[in-house]
Amino acid sequence: MQLKTINKLCCPFDKQDLTLQVLTKDLDQNVIEGILTCNTCSRKYPIVYGVPIMAPDEYRQIQLEQPIVEKWKLEYDLVDVKLLPEG
Ligand SMILES: [Zn+2]
Repeated sequence: MQLKTINKLCCPFDKQDLTLQVLTKDLDQNVIEGILTCNTCSRKYPIVYGVPIMAPDEYRQIQLEQPIVEKWKLEYDLVDVKLLPEG
């Protein structure tokens, strides 16, 4: 997915802006792996194989998303990969 497209995305929970952390890009500068973080509610949305996994809480499959970000955590030395905010 291209940066200019990603920049148009907003958080499905509160429609606020997201901050993109790019982990891998392809030769055309498309983001292949990354994490979008909501500046307001701190929810995180992974980009997997170029596709942002963005859904409201009730449709998220955290049990599928979490292993992906746990792998990235080791691979890219990330500190905080909690997908949903505390409480
Ligand atoms: Zn949010």
